[in-house]
Amino acid sequence: MNIVLLGAPGAGKGTQAAKLVEAYNIAHISTGDLLRAAVKDSTPLGVEAKSYMDAGELVPDSLVIGLMKERLAKEDTAAGFILDGFPRNSTQAVTLDAELSDLKRSIDAAIAIIVDPEAIVARLASRRVCKVCGFIGSDADTSCPVCGGEMYQRDDDKPSTVRNRLEVYEKATSPLIDYYRGSDLLVEVEGNHSVDEVFASIQAALA
Ligand code: ADP
Ligand code: ZN
Repeated sequence: MNIVLLGAPGAGKGTQAAKLVEAYNIAHISTGDLLRAAVKDSTPLGVEAKSYMDAGELVPDSLVIGLMKERLAKEDTAAGFILDGFPRNSTQAVTLDAELSDLKRSIDAAIAIIVDPEAIVARLASRRVCKVCGFIGSDADTSCPVCGGEMYQRDDDKPSTVRNRLEVYEKATSPLIDYYRGSDLLVEVEGNHSVDEVFASIQAALA
């Protein structure tokens, strides 16, 4: 099963992706995670991407598309994959379709997690991530409930950056909902519920 996950920042893509990976045994491709790893390792790509990420802007397509293609070429994607955070604009969506067609593969579903923007600002302000295993929690987690690791706040979860990320989402990414509706792949899911409830509606939609 090949899935694209759509939704505003903070809609719960990363959390649901982790559950989908576990349930369906497919590869998790998060361009945000790949970019954060590149920043942490100070690779040339990471150095170039950092200023865009800190400002809440999209990293240029020329950088992100290469990253996605490289990841998609890895063997663990053969059984299926979840794209989390890609595509984020129409150029990326069209490039993805072309790349998959070259690989003789296609998308089975595009899941859009719909959340009210008010809820998102609050969610991102309290979001904390485990330094060790990447678990996504909140400021109520003094340490990681999964591995005991230290929880930290992402640089781009500061309120000023969050506002810009939401604007970028509205302008560049939200039109992709219609793009996938047009190719009959769209599944819309209400995101204003518990993690397990959202996951149950995703599973029901995929069944
Ligand atoms: P969120 O969905 O919470 O905004 P991500 O981890 O998906 O977080 O992305 C974090 C940042 O990484 C984005 O704000 C953007 O700067 C960059 N990024 C991630 N994926 C892409 C992409 N496909 N195209 C351009 N920039 C991206
Ligand atoms: Zn952890």
